[in-house]
Amino acid sequence: MSLNERHFGGRLRWTSIAFADMAHLWGSCTFTSGAIRIAMRAAVLPEWVLNYLLVHELAHLEHSDHGPAFRELENRYPLSERARGYLMALDHTATDAMA
Ligand SMILES: [Zn+2]
Repeated sequence: MSLNERHFGGRLRWTSIAFADMAHLWGSCTFTSGAIRIAMRAAVLPEWVLNYLLVHELAHLEHSDHGPAFRELENRYPLSERARGYLMALDHTATDAMA
């Protein structure tokens, strides 16, 4: 079962998901085109953290900001809070590494 089916009822629609060379971000999502990019350096992260990055960017397909509606969607992935802590610990010098 995919993340989309398990946590979003299969309702998310994207056009492309690709790894990209990103120095300062773990991921980004172009709200208008539906294109998701995940940082190349994220490929070595544990799968559950990588899945969180995907969930975060997928949630941006419905909400471009980080408001309460966005968080509600993102938190459907049960490990979101732990993954945020994991990334925070890795990126302890960055203030906000998620776009
Ligand atoms: Zn974001």
